[in-house]
Amino acid sequence: MVEWLNPFSSEGQDTVREKGDLDNVFTRNNDLINIVAHSDHQNLSDDTLIPDSYGNLALKRIQWYIERKNNKDFKISDFAYLLNEEIAEADVISFHLLCQAIAIKFNLKSRESRLFIESQGKLIEDRLMKMMPQNRKEIVDKVLSQLILDDNFSWLYLKDLIASKKLSLEDLVIDNGEIIINREDFVAKFGDEFKDRAPDRMYDIIIGENIKELLLTSLIMQNTEDYIEKIKEMSSKVEIHPAISELGEKIATTITEISRKYSNYYGRIGEESLKIGNLQREAFPPCMAKTVEGVTSGGRNDAIVLMLTSFVSYARLFPGIFISGQEVKVSDIDPNLTITLNEILPIIYEAADNCSPPLFEDQPQERLNIISKLGFGMNTYPKLENEGETKWYTPMSCEKIKMHLPQLCRPDKLCKNVVNPLFYYSRRKWEMEREGKLKETQTDDTSDN
Ligand code: SF4
Repeated sequence: MVEWLNPFSSEGQDTVREKGDLDNVFTRNNDLINIVAHSDHQNLSDDTLIPDSYGNLALKRIQWYIERKNNKDFKISDFAYLLNEEIAEADVISFHLLCQAIAIKFNLKSRESRLFIESQGKLIEDRLMKMMPQNRKEIVDKVLSQLILDDNFSWLYLKDLIASKKLSLEDLVIDNGEIIINREDFVAKFGDEFKDRAPDRMYDIIIGENIKELLLTSLIMQNTEDYIEKIKEMSSKVEIHPAISELGEKIATTITEISRKYSNYYGRIGEESLKIGNLQREAFPPCMAKTVEGVTSGGRNDAIVLMLTSFVSYARLFPGIFISGQEVKVSDIDPNLTITLNEILPIIYEAADNCSPPLFEDQPQERLNIISKLGFGMNTYPKLENEGETKWYTPMSCEKIKMHLPQLCRPDKLCKNVVNPLFYYSRRKWEMEREGKLKETQTDDTSDN
């Protein structure tokens, strides 16, 4: 039962040792099928809804989270087995398989790693919600005692959680650097402070079960991230089992396919649709047009690396980013990086060359920074295997440009109605389309999206 919430518990580790045979990751597992089929309210109308192996269960966990997050018509009954305690053993095995596959296939800061870590947190929340209050309280106390081994639980222990914003200091009660979680400690420390109210009652109001559950979920998420990092470090020294590599490939395909289902890379401003399309230089706002011609005054590096790189890449690949709010990576839209290599980078390099002095002449390392801002880490060229090492930097707002690169902002009439150069570009492109001035040229490798 504990392993259902804490896959790192000794119970969970024993299960993985005894039953987590890597040769059977995709072997049909009748016990698992039986548990799924007998889970309360499980939808059995379609065989594809039923995971038939530990590997498939791992993929279903990921699918569940993306669907739950994006699908307006999400049906809990399609995944009811994930909230059935009887699946605990299979679940903990699939969790550890996911950790390994994600560690060897993706970067720690990649969308895939984040999705998995978030999914683990959400799964714990949903499982807790389904429990009876007394049970819930007991198991939370038990799991927390496994996670917090030190009696003097200093807030410094949580510094990574706080730094990563998984937890806020404001959520905690801290006394002399020590975090107070238990009722007894709270009453002993602060009992005398409450004259008109029972300290017990105040504990329920100030701390209560919510904080403990939040702490539990955050600690498991942090431990998952640390565990993936550890596997990643070790993976260069050991031979990877083919089943783990296969699972890694399947995770990549699953996430890409489901994300595409909820992402057509379109957004709307009023009646305008913002589509992927060939880059139209004539639609660039004054700040970007000026940058492409070359920056001669100060701010040259920021103008090319920060401002132009993000603008050109999103204008070409995903102009609807701010409207859709989706998290995407370049290869979701440009799977072979053909557009990135043939259209996006050339215009950035052209602008860099037009600067005075040419950017790469005295600062060749800025090539790496440009690739990094596209999400491919500090590398000379964008390669799929490096994607996710850094984030795809989103375009700077007009406000930021005016503040940091005021010499490049020369607003025209259309600028009055925009807060980001990307909106200017989409608006102007739409106008050009209506005026029949849009050019249909260059590479277009997005047909399979
Ligand atoms: S107002 Fe915005 S879009 Fe227009 S030139 Fe200035 S920064 Fe560029």
